[in-house]
Amino acid sequence: MSNPFNLSGKTAIVTGANTGLGQGMAVALAEAGADVALVGRSRPEETVELVEKTGRKAHVIMADLGSMEPIERIVSETRENLGEIDILVNNAGIIKRNDSIDFTEEDWDAVMDINLKTLFFLSQAVARSMIAAEKGGKIINIASMLSYQGGIRVPSYTASKSGVMGLTRILANEWAAHGINVNAIAPGYFATNNTAALQADEKRNTEILGRIPAGRWGKPSDLGGAAVFLSSSASDYVQGITLPVDGGWLAR
Ligand code: NAP
Repeated sequence: MSNPFNLSGKTAIVTGANTGLGQGMAVALAEAGADVALVGRSRPEETVELVEKTGRKAHVIMADLGSMEPIERIVSETRENLGEIDILVNNAGIIKRNDSIDFTEEDWDAVMDINLKTLFFLSQAVARSMIAAEKGGKIINIASMLSYQGGIRVPSYTASKSGVMGLTRILANEWAAHGINVNAIAPGYFATNNTAALQADEKRNTEILGRIPAGRWGKPSDLGGAAVFLSSSASDYVQGITLPVDGGWLAR
């Protein structure tokens, strides 16, 4: 039987791939056979090296995803350099922490613009390209435990990630007929820059670890299997789900 997880000959875009979960997923997709466009505002030198070590191509696209400006350029540059787009991983995202009572409009807009607005319009641009190519494709959004839970002191993050779960469903509904699968991954607590403040806070760190049945923070490589599954033909009949990869956090 041929391997349904094989991504040979596929072209993927991963946003925010210079570090953390984006880097982990970009490398996992390359290991499964895909060439990868690495999109972000910081140069992803280490990720380029890791992708090329697998024998696949890496193409860097410098882009600040806090605005709409780079969206069309990301699609056209990927197609010119790596061919038609098969996979989009909307990973880039930020978090701002403050009590809701003091939360500013600036912190609201900054988070919503990248975590939700760009995610939607980049998905739209990539879906238009996939529909024109008549090959279908896979779109994977990165959600969060705060797609399911309220959290604390992160109101725009909770709103954005709850929105990501809803958008994943509507886009799956609308684009399944074109052979495009839209799904999300909800990482639990992973040791990256995004959670540096929590890891450094001894009380919160102990509370968080006490609730994770696996007994440890996630590593970026822990997301690879879910990312490859949702990028591959193994998930052709999976639509609109948000798959938790959380060491058991939600099961508690
Ligand atoms: P991270 O290490 O902070 O990575 C975030 C990525 O997004 C970086 O590549 C960052 O680039 C990029 N990014 C941020 N703002 C950008 C902008 N305006 N334009 C282009 N790129 C931008 O955090 P991470 O934990 O890997 O986060 C990746 C995703 O997972 C995020 O959507 C996050 O919300 C989600 N997530 C993380 C966790 C966790 O426990 N770590 C849990 C649930 C969900 P720079 O390096 O240039 O800032």
